[in-house]
Amino acid sequence: MARPKTSSMKAPEPPPPTLRLKVDTRALAHNWRALDRLSGAARAGAAVKANAYGLGVDVCVPALRDAGCASFYVAHWSEVEAVARHVPPAQIAVLHGVINEAEMDYASASGANPVINSIEQARAWSAYSGGVCDLMVDTGINRLGVSPDELDDPAIQALDVDTLMSHLACADEDSPMNAQQLEMFRSCAGRVKHQGLSLANSAGIALGPDFHFDATRPGLALYGGVPRASLAEAIEQVAFVEAAILQTRALKAGDSVGYNAEFTAPAAMKVATVSLGYADGFLRSRGPGGFLSFEDKTLPILGKVSMDMIVVDITKALDLSAGDWLGVPFSLVDAAQQSLVSQYELLTTIGERLRG
Ligand SMILES: *Cc1c(COP(=O)(O)O)cnc(C)c1O
Repeated sequence: MARPKTSSMKAPEPPPPTLRLKVDTRALAHNWRALDRLSGAARAGAAVKANAYGLGVDVCVPALRDAGCASFYVAHWSEVEAVARHVPPAQIAVLHGVINEAEMDYASASGANPVINSIEQARAWSAYSGGVCDLMVDTGINRLGVSPDELDDPAIQALDVDTLMSHLACADEDSPMNAQQLEMFRSCAGRVKHQGLSLANSAGIALGPDFHFDATRPGLALYGGVPRASLAEAIEQVAFVEAAILQTRALKAGDSVGYNAEFTAPAAMKVATVSLGYADGFLRSRGPGGFLSFEDKTLPILGKVSMDMIVVDITKALDLSAGDWLGVPFSLVDAAQQSLVSQYELLTTIGERLRG
């Protein structure tokens, strides 16, 4: 029988989600301070592109600002407004630079700095009388940036460059390319007037003082990622995921669980179905041997992770019932290893659904 419709046209507020992400802003601030300290005389900024690597600009930027961070890097102009709600626009740099008139209009109106990446961008920005900018020189990653042999071009020389920067391709590995990029960056520094130099991302900070220059640009490690083992001790977990129990069930010996019936109960046992699956970034590879937690108890995952549900063994916590929250292990290093994806992918795809 259909329920009577409400007379109001207003859409009802949805109830809160059964999956949540908690960002530990104290740990985030701790990580920024640690990376700032590890940057020696250089000041650490913060890469906050992609909605602060998925953790939320509105939560992360104020915490970073209050910790002392005064340089923020985003990828797109569309990301400026959200960051500028919390910090002066002059502290924001847009890594993609300006590729058309509309972007230059927005750059000029917003007061955020473009990172100029090509001779064409440099010409256009000067013709626009855009003012102060940063300049990216490509020393080997071949993504964005003017090449070193373009630095003498009059369009580049005419720029009012605040920070001359480059980006490392292999900072998370012991690659000879790190020293090569460092050497090339050094050779560029004398050829363009600038206020400051910046080369290192999170992993680059761990490569040592030669890589620090005036400013560093950590991203991943701020949010709990550990791109080089030597950073492990300094970095704390920032993202904590919790999922709610949707239903508990009593299994008899011989009952199976989930797709392909991969788990069969050896004896009667109690299990819980939890609102978490690969649609939420909890990949199938995390199933076997994986677990969730409740207080100090570990609850083994049974069978396959399905799109948005998993089943766990609650023998150790028989009082659990629908609506109770379970912890999802989310130390980025372990979780990425178990998921067979990079820490970057895991963090940024952990899912829109979690941010709700
Ligand atoms: C994303 C980005 C960073 C931050 O890199 P992490 O590896 O996340 O620390 C720094 N600089 C540039 C140019 C970037 O694009």
